[in-house]
Amino acid sequence: MTLAIVVPCYNEEAVLGETAHRLLELLGRLIASGRIDAHSTICFVDDGSKDHTWELIEKRASESLHVKGIKLSRNRGHQNALLAGLFSVEGDAIISIDADLQDDISVIETMVDRHLEGYDVVYGVRKERTVDTPFKRASAEGFYKLMRLMGVDIVYNHADYRLLSRRALEALKEFKEVNLFLRAMVPLVGYQSAQVFYDRAERFAGESKYPLKKMLAFAWDGITSFSVMPLRLITATGFIIFIATLLMSAWVLGVKLFSDEAVPGWASTVLPIYFIGGIQVFALGIVGEYIGKIYMETKERPRFIIEKQI
Ligand code: UDP
Ligand code: MG
Repeated sequence: MTLAIVVPCYNEEAVLGETAHRLLELLGRLIASGRIDAHSTICFVDDGSKDHTWELIEKRASESLHVKGIKLSRNRGHQNALLAGLFSVEGDAIISIDADLQDDISVIETMVDRHLEGYDVVYGVRKERTVDTPFKRASAEGFYKLMRLMGVDIVYNHADYRLLSRRALEALKEFKEVNLFLRAMVPLVGYQSAQVFYDRAERFAGESKYPLKKMLAFAWDGITSFSVMPLRLITATGFIIFIATLLMSAWVLGVKLFSDEAVPGWASTVLPIYFIGGIQVFALGIVGEYIGKIYMETKERPRFIIEKQI
């Protein structure tokens, strides 16, 4: 079995040398143990870095046959860089991992073992987030819960550290969407999957390339690319306002018929406002439903992926 490890890098000159060193060491060990083929590779994808990341990749590639490099024409973001790497490498199993090695590389061995047992997808899952700031932890865990609530099938506390078999990767190629959110696309591919658990470490050098702004944009992209729930909430809001107006009308009628406290002109002014408001929001939601359908259609996702045929 040939293994390929894909590492997206954006301005990672501070960590690249050490990362390459550790990954090569691990690859050597796996090859020596006979679990993977000697042609296994590590592919660094330079996502339009502005520092010396590419020169470092070139240097490493010239030193070792196991190191490959891809340079993107400009910065396209983590998910796109990752996809460029995944779709370019050869190999029977492909692992993606961040350049900063915050994800414990020793579980790569376990991932390979799981794959050899027959699993097509092996998710790396964070056990705890002790090194993250309380804010990052709360926001990240809240995000996974929100995604679940919105009906998106996503593996809790799994980011982009995973192993894909060749056929799972080929199936992923059938997903033509441009707004990438890989961690929710992979579960859509299906096949047998397993999880391996690890502790997330701190970045050993350099700083995070995901400031809060990018994180929020990423989360928003994840929700709107995979769920039409926000549109459905509009429909529900409109419907609730509408029902509330009906109840209010009954109440107003009751006041008028059974008491002498009715204020002249109140009902005819206030009720239509709520009524029309409710109907409008409801109608907007219905229109949204259709837009949501159009949106999903334009993704041209595969309708099924066959695992076996006999
Ligand atoms: N990255 C990338 N392009 C970008 C931003 C980030 O390829 O535009 C890479 C980065 O080099 C790293 C990975 O994505 O390998 C994850 O980034 P980072 O570690 O900064 O994110 P964090 O762990 O802080 O969420
Ligand atoms: Mg990181």
